[in-house]
Amino acid sequence: MKYDYDLFVIGGGSGGVRAARRTAALGKRVGVAEESRYGGTCVIRGCVPKKLYVYASTFPEHFEDSQGYGWSVGETSFDWNKLVANKEAEVTRLEGGYRQGLLSSGTEVFDTRAELRGSHEVWLKEEDRIITAERILIAVGGTPYRQPELEGHELAIVSDDAFNLPKLPKSIIIAGAGYIAVEFAGIFAGLGVETSILYRGPEILRGFDDDVRTLLHEEYEKRGIRIITEQVFSKLERGQGDTVKAHLSGGEVMEVDQVMLALGRVPLTGSLGLDMAGVETDERGYIKVNEYSRTNVENIWAVGDVTDRVQLTPVAIHEAMCFVATEYQDDPQRPDHDLIATAVFSHPEIGTVGMSEAEAAEAFPKLNVFRANFRPMKYTLAGRDSRMLMKLIVDAESDRVVGAHVLGPDAGEMAQVMAISIKMGAKKADFDRTMALHPSAGEELVTMYDPTYTVENGKRVE
Ligand code: FAD
Ligand code: NDP
Repeated sequence: MKYDYDLFVIGGGSGGVRAARRTAALGKRVGVAEESRYGGTCVIRGCVPKKLYVYASTFPEHFEDSQGYGWSVGETSFDWNKLVANKEAEVTRLEGGYRQGLLSSGTEVFDTRAELRGSHEVWLKEEDRIITAERILIAVGGTPYRQPELEGHELAIVSDDAFNLPKLPKSIIIAGAGYIAVEFAGIFAGLGVETSILYRGPEILRGFDDDVRTLLHEEYEKRGIRIITEQVFSKLERGQGDTVKAHLSGGEVMEVDQVMLALGRVPLTGSLGLDMAGVETDERGYIKVNEYSRTNVENIWAVGDVTDRVQLTPVAIHEAMCFVATEYQDDPQRPDHDLIATAVFSHPEIGTVGMSEAEAAEAFPKLNVFRANFRPMKYTLAGRDSRMLMKLIVDAESDRVVGAHVLGPDAGEMAQVMAISIKMGAKKADFDRTMALHPSAGEELVTMYDPTYTVENGKRVE
């Protein structure tokens, strides 16, 4: 059977674009369909605009800190609409780059929604026609969960909306305490918005190292962010004017300019025609894949956020590259999800790679924990009351560093570099014999010679 395409990709985000470009560059006939904007979540409504907003929100701190260094900063003002417009221009530039990259590789680019109509058939909505492909890659990603069961949920915004608000709110309450809630709380608070986090559990950022969680909690409170734990919204209703009255499960009613839900994301598989191709999903709608990202249908693969693995851009790209190597370069590659460095772009920032202390305590009978908590040099003259944390978790038996956690300025950059040595299997002795770079915050990572404490069979021993 002759197909229209060797590969058809549904979704022009991080994973889809990389797979299409690389496969087309190998001389294959490739098509890709994107229903919104090329670049996907990361470029249009995720990593990139988020980081730009994080930068924007840190300036007031720099203005303040500069005074200890002899500067006098005149009156400052902030123009939200200018930030939104400049962000939009940058995102549009990147979007153009993604499209151009696809075209240059020889990929046929479609601006349309696409749905499966069979195991080799894809319906292109704009043109209302069905094309055929030998192989199909699903890379449709996800969308914010809007909590439809919450009364008044339609009054709340999600991260997609937060980037383009017509005006900066005076107050906001953000539900959830994962990456997005914590990052946006830092952004809004930095921009001067009265900010609260509402979380159902006892402490923000479940899954991260406990010391990092508690220290960020303290730092956020110092910056005026209110963190309300062990509560959820019971309902939302319209307040005075454009405000929203948020009813909390504990009985308090808060009237704020905006309510934001950051409660995780759901895969965009609802009306994708998966049933017509026989592609299986799990109970939450994520596409089930094997270790090579192949679905239960032999000629259909899925990568990125639409599979229930790790929802990060570099991971989607890596899965796409493994798919191309396996299917088109005769080089079977299984995506490697072990020891992925990650950052939370909070204020201060978190950078982490490997296990938290709690995870490591379950995995190893004895741990040595090295921890430093100090005021970064930058904050001394600034007079800023803010702490930095460095923590290494070491398996006592093998001396291998199994987790590294940093909270403080440039933590993400440090985690990226440490990930190389940890991925190579670095031992604590390797950290010890590495010369410090002075004066830097990072030097603490190679000068913590004695364990702060040990953990034996899950119990802390001083
Ligand atoms: P996506 O990038 O979501 O791309 C899927 C594309 O498919 C979309 O463009 C969508 O429009 C399109 N599509 C969907 N259905 C169809 C259809 N039927 N037909 C045609 N097109 C369709 N990750 C990081 O690593 N670092 C970060 O700092 C970071 N920050 C983030 C901040 C926010 C606010 C959010 C929401 C996410 C962030 N992420 C971050 C996660 C990252 O954006 C995702 O993991 C990544 O974009 C997933 O890539 P993907 O290719 O799987 O999906
Ligand atoms: P997360 O999974 O990180 O966090 C979701 C939060 O919502 C958690 O605090 C969770 O609580 C809470 N929650 C979930 N369901 C409910 C509910 N029904 N009621 C009350 N609370 C609920 O998702 P995000 O939306 O923050 O981010 C999605 C993904 O995007 C991240 O997991 C990450 O992979 C990626 N991302 C990465 C970034 C980065 O790399 N810097 C930045 C932003 C996003 P609990 O913990 O108790 O389950």
